[in-house]
Amino acid sequence: MRSQLVKVEKMEVVSQLAASISHEIRNPLTVVKGFIQLLKTPSLSQETRDRYIQIALDEINRAEAIINDYLTFAKPASNKVERLMVNEELQKVVQMLAPMAHMNSIEIVKNLQPGAIVGNIQYFQQCFLNLIKNSIEAMPNGGTLTISSRLHGNHVIITIKDTGVGMTTEQVNRFGEPYFSTKDTGTGLGTMVAVKTIQAMQGTLHIDSEVNKGTTLTITFPKATN
Ligand code: ADP
Ligand code: MG
Repeated sequence: MRSQLVKVEKMEVVSQLAASISHEIRNPLTVVKGFIQLLKTPSLSQETRDRYIQIALDEINRAEAIINDYLTFAKPASNKVERLMVNEELQKVVQMLAPMAHMNSIEIVKNLQPGAIVGNIQYFQQCFLNLIKNSIEAMPNGGTLTISSRLHGNHVIITIKDTGVGMTTEQVNRFGEPYFSTKDTGTGLGTMVAVKTIQAMQGTLHIDSEVNKGTTLTITFPKATN
C-alpha cells in the first residue's frame, strides 16, 4: 500500500514537469508572434526592422534553451520507473557533454563505480545533463570536472565537482529556484528540473561551493533493493 502511494507521487512530479514546458515556451512564442506582426508595418525603418528581427531570434533561442533544460531525452509517454545503473547513465551524459568540455579546455576525470537505483531514465539523464552543463559553464577558462559514483551502505552517492566560478551563499540558497540565473541568456530552469527529479527519486542534494574555487554537488539516492 505504501509503495503504491510513493509511486503515484513520483509519477506526479514527472508529469508536472512535462506539463510545465508548454507553459514555459508560451511567453517567448508570444513575443516572437508580436514582433513578426509588427514587421508587417510598411513604414518601418531598416534599423527598427533589424531590431525586431533580433528580438524574435533571441526569443526563439530562449525557447530552444528552455526545451533543452526539460526535454533533451524526452520520448512520448515515458513515465516508466525502472532499475537503472547510475554509472552507465552518467557515462552517457558525460559522453554527450565531452565536446563542450573540450572546447572550454576542461579536463574530465571519471570514477564511476557501479550502483543501481530506481527511477525514470530520461529524467535521470536530463537531471545530470543540466547539472554537469552548469559545471562546464562555470569554467569558461578551463579547469577540471570530476564525476564520481560509489556505493555507501544502502545508498548510491554521486558527486559532480568543478573548479569554476563557485557560488555565494545567496546563490547556493537559490539553487533550484525557477528563473534564478546569473547568466546573460540563462533560463534558470535547469537546476529546478534537476532538484525536482532528485526529489522524485527520493534523493538528496548537498552543495558545497566557494567563490572562485569551485562547486561540489553530492547527490545521494537509495540503492535499488534487488
Ligand atoms: P542557467 O544555467 O540557465 O542559468 P540553471 O537553473 O541551470 O539556469 O542554474 C541557475 C544558476 O545556478 C546559474 O545561473 C548559476 O548562477 C548557478 N549555478 C548552478 N550550477 C553552478 C555551478 N556548478 N557553479 C556555479 N554556479 C552554478
Ligand atoms: Mg543551466
